Amino acid sequence: MKSALALAAGLLALAASAADFPAKDKVITIVVPFSAGGPTDRVARDLAEAMRKPLGGVSIVVDNAAGAGGSIGANKVAKAAPDGYTVLLHHIGMSTMPTLVRNIPFKVESDFEYLGMVNDVPMTLIARPTMQAANFKELQGWMAQNKGKINLGNAGIGSASHLCGLLFQSATQTEMATISFKGTAPAITDLIGGHIDLLCDQTTNTTSQIEGKKVKAYAVTTTKRLTTPALKDLPTMDEAGLKNFQVTIWHGLYAPKGTPADVTAKLNEALKAALKDPEFIKKQEGLGAVVVTDKRIEPAEHKRFVAAEIAKWSPVIKAAGVYAD
Ligand code: ASP
Repeated sequence: MKSALALAAGLLALAASAADFPAKDKVITIVVPFSAGGPTDRVARDLAEAMRKPLGGVSIVVDNAAGAGGSIGANKVAKAAPDGYTVLLHHIGMSTMPTLVRNIPFKVESDFEYLGMVNDVPMTLIARPTMQAANFKELQGWMAQNKGKINLGNAGIGSASHLCGLLFQSATQTEMATISFKGTAPAITDLIGGHIDLLCDQTTNTTSQIEGKKVKAYAVTTTKRLTTPALKDLPTMDEAGLKNFQVTIWHGLYAPKGTPADVTAKLNEALKAALKDPEFIKKQEGLGAVVVTDKRIEPAEHKRFVAAEIAKWSPVIKAAGVYAD
């Protein structure tokens, strides 16, 4: 009897907290599983700003729980209290980690509530500023001459840069030494400093560096050329001779499994409002990203899409024969 009463009290408390969500005196934390200043972080900070108003002005902060290719941050959210105050912004890594990393301590399919997708982001192949190659063809010549000596940065196993780098090595049949960072913000710093040679990274991180001529850029990973002024003259990988080389990164928002349905509904509504916010759209477009307007904004479709991406990337990763423990 006592436990039934406790259960009823607990359920009432939960119902009250869902009705009040988000409470004015609480803070919503968006966990970013990569370093501050990088592409995922940038999307999260813009999103935090755009979701604040539709959530009644509540404070939204970003927590960079970086490392292990994004699995540390994802695990933190999988184990967080399911009350809506901790959410995860993650990218395509949600679909590559289950195949790339053998022992991830959470399940992408069952440990999260899916809240909807945010954007699609192309990637660019960039090099240190001292790279002499004037175009992709010359870069390939340089790669042929420097086999065994090339360093390629990434944000850890399972990250977008890791995936893109694997595909690039396989498409050019060039093995490279990969250097892992906690995100591509520190990787790009080392690229600018000339400590690594190449990096494949989202346009949300590379556009301003390309514009400022801090790095050399050689190709984009989309099937069509981009329209962003700083990127429009870059060939697609396909045009540059790497047939069918296509990677588009996407970001999605997640809450811990068990977060009450009316709380996830409020978060989804706020996300939808953010994706219609002209200021947010303008910022994303300026960085080469495209805000989601299709049905992937609905949690069920977001979940279906991630499952399809797992099925799409799993054979590619298995064929490349790369795993981590
Ligand atoms: N761009 C990184 C990646 O390669 C992630 C980041 O630093 O946001 O996955």
